[in-house]
Amino acid sequence: MTDAPATPAARPITLITGASRGIGRAIAERLAADGHDLALTYRERRDAAEEVADACRALGARVELFEVDFADLEAADRLVPEVVAALGAMTGLVNNAGITGRIGGFLDAPIEESELVFRINVLAPIVVTRAAIAHMSTDLGGSGGAIVNISSGAATNGSPHTYVPYAMSKAALNILTLGTAREFAAAGVRVNTVSPGTTYTEIHAAAGRPNAPEERAPRIPMQRAGHPHEIAGAVAYLLSDDASYTTGTDIRVAGGN
Ligand code: NDP
Repeated sequence: MTDAPATPAARPITLITGASRGIGRAIAERLAADGHDLALTYRERRDAAEEVADACRALGARVELFEVDFADLEAADRLVPEVVAALGAMTGLVNNAGITGRIGGFLDAPIEESELVFRINVLAPIVVTRAAIAHMSTDLGGSGGAIVNISSGAATNGSPHTYVPYAMSKAALNILTLGTAREFAAAGVRVNTVSPGTTYTEIHAAAGRPNAPEERAPRIPMQRAGHPHEIAGAVAYLLSDDASYTTGTDIRVAGGN
């Protein structure tokens, strides 16, 4: 008697926000290598996003690109249904897109900038996560899924003299993880956080301090900033079956800080 041929397992379908560069790009390439099909968002750098998509396709992934500015919460709300229409039932979400605001003292941070930081880093993830959970929840007819929120070490150190409102926004994101993890644990949806320390990306130039990784290195126990692929590994683990009993937790990838 011969065994029946195994049915190939369905490929995970994962949405990554802000995947045109930096940590989001590294996550996309790692997940493509791990066998995910991908929905990738970018705000304005279409060429960079196309490059990431090509790299992921070369690794065997189906990839769709979505242009979305998360300052527009209505556009954020349309994203998950658009992804499902393009690729099929979504099994994973990585809330990665984020901004810091300009580096400086707390008294100098304009309130309009703090408002935008909260819109991109907190309100948009709430909107996208609600749509993702509504789609994934087994209580609502979905097949379950996993969500990873990209927070920051800033959430627990407050980032004095640097960007207190950004640190506040990431602390709020940590509670999005905890609350939704517990509310939807019995509905097949796992939610976790990855908290990078300072990582080599363009986010520091946008904050006005392109050399921040080198400047901060002496205060990091490992004496260096991280690389995007070192963050991506933790995300890949949390989205994998190896993490099937892991929810509501935070993996800090910060060189000892
Ligand atoms: P980058 O600035 O390198 O990349 C940001 C990504 O987000 C890009 O894909 C960008 O798209 C997109 N994006 C930016 N603004 C918006 C917006 N308004 N709407 C939609 N998409 C937007 O950032 P990093 O890779 O450094 O950061 C990724 C995440 O990691 C963030 O949440 C950040 O807070 C967090 N983090 C980063 C650390 C670091 O040291 N780098 C440390 C700790 C946490 P486009 O290219 O089209 O502009």
